[in-house]
Amino acid sequence: MSHLEQTIRTIPDFPKPGIQFKDITPLLADGDRFHETIDLLKARHIDREIDMVVGIEARGFIFASALAYALGAGTCLVRKPGKLPHTVHRQTYELEYGTDAVEIHSDAFQPGQKILIVDDVLATGGTVAATVELIQSHFEIEILEIDFLIELTFLNGRKKLAGLPIHALIEY
Ligand code: AMP
Repeated sequence: MSHLEQTIRTIPDFPKPGIQFKDITPLLADGDRFHETIDLLKARHIDREIDMVVGIEARGFIFASALAYALGAGTCLVRKPGKLPHTVHRQTYELEYGTDAVEIHSDAFQPGQKILIVDDVLATGGTVAATVELIQSHFEIEILEIDFLIELTFLNGRKKLAGLPIHALIEY
């Protein structure tokens, strides 16, 4: 087990029975490990002239903003409906029961910008696939990579992101 992985705590049956919740708060509480996490992500993109790092609500914001700072890039928020104050684009997606949606400000990017998308956990991939659809259908940008702290490989979320470069620091 890597020392980064040692700072991830698994909470059984949270928030509902059968879910093995990956709690990242011990990693965030460890200054050295949090710093290392951002440095590992930064090293992947240091020479790529990234314009914008997109964070997915809510834990994605933590990593996206720190990575954006480290790269000298901007950061932008993909949020649950009704949270963003300016005009938005919206993308709905299917859940096990019902639907959910993500939104982004309609002026989030300039044409031709190079972007990264960051979230804490790749699980089923539904949220990040909706984020990709949201961004690609409204903006002429280039997604250089989608980065995660953790990938739950047994859920095969990658198949919803076919053709896009994906990287996770920790795999389960
Ligand atoms: P998904 O759309 O299934 O890929 O997951 C959406 C979001 O739910 C992820 O970005 C995570 O923040 C969170 N999530 C899903 N499953 C887990 C898990 N087992 N542990 C921690 N967070 C999770």
